[in-house]
Amino acid sequence: MSHPVVLRDVRVLDGDTTGPATSVVVRDGRIADGPLPDDADIVEGGGGVLLPGLIDTHAHVSRRAHLDAMVEWGVTTVLDMGAPHYDATMALKDQPGLPTLRSAGRPASGPGSMFVTKMGHPASSAVSGPDDAARFVADRVAESADYIKIIIEDPRFPGTKPLEPATIAAIAVAARAAGLLTVAHVVSPATLRTAVAAGVDVVTHTALTKGLGDDEITGTVSLIPTLGMMDGVARSIGRRLPVRALSLLVPALRMDYRHAVATVAAFRRAGQVVLAGTDANDEPGAPCRVPYGISLHDELERLVSAGLTATEALRAATVQPAETFGLHDRGVIAAGRRADLVLVDGDPTRDITATRAIRGVWIGGARVRA
Ligand SMILES: [Zn+2]
Repeated sequence: MSHPVVLRDVRVLDGDTTGPATSVVVRDGRIADGPLPDDADIVEGGGGVLLPGLIDTHAHVSRRAHLDAMVEWGVTTVLDMGAPHYDATMALKDQPGLPTLRSAGRPASGPGSMFVTKMGHPASSAVSGPDDAARFVADRVAESADYIKIIIEDPRFPGTKPLEPATIAAIAVAARAAGLLTVAHVVSPATLRTAVAAGVDVVTHTALTKGLGDDEITGTVSLIPTLGMMDGVARSIGRRLPVRALSLLVPALRMDYRHAVATVAAFRRAGQVVLAGTDANDEPGAPCRVPYGISLHDELERLVSAGLTATEALRAATVQPAETFGLHDRGVIAAGRRADLVLVDGDPTRDITATRAIRGVWIGGARVRA
């Protein structure tokens, strides 16, 4: 049994601000209550702010180096949102010293979609119709997927092979019956409406072609906007000649990052949950590469630029994804929770960029970064 650890002279998030300097006790990998133990190893916090380990709610992980980079930047839980190299992803689950990894396994897409033709997902991950939905979900359950990812394409975009709305709804029903959350990739207000009508729990990405009005957000759905990715897509794909030519002909398809920002602001005003996720990937077929780890800090800054308070942005990367995805052992610093912790200089509740000034990272109570 290892010694308990006392993190001394740290400030902990307390509502919208940080509390006075205190000590946090870690015993057997968890935050502990009670008096300071005599035999503890002491870590001097130097008045820094202690945050719950950060959660990246949208990444694509297939190599250990991806998770090493996450650790370096204080990301202690990673939600993989579609793994073309699923066996490699699975092998990275439950590894000591690495972030907790959860995965959607293979995402549902339409037969002949680019996800099966270009992005390396097997043909069996295409769902042929509503009658095929239960088979798809059973396949994901058999490969131990933690939630279900559904790709909802907009038929107006060139080269798409979208799932039919009835098929999407059938997948959501089958997933719920299996006790799994659904996360839908949406790229336009129309696909967002399709997702909400189908009853999915979480949508990810934000439309670049049109912002969302306050009256267009109906039902309850959480949003992982992946703002950094959307900016990258607007810069890369949006500048390609065929896309520019198409948007001249069809102005409704013109890409502008400001629409993504407006959508986040509208979700916030509507009181919906907004979660921090990066779409970190190094897939050759992806529209834009996003680096692992550091991108979550970029995303936090983008969320603040979109109108979230710094504390709301921090919650979007800690307690809210923990609650949304049923990770009830983490997300806050409280007795009994996993000691996934990040110690930073400065006060990120006042200046969100302070999350980058990392002085220490702990996963399950073990220090994984000095
Ligand atoms: Zn993604």
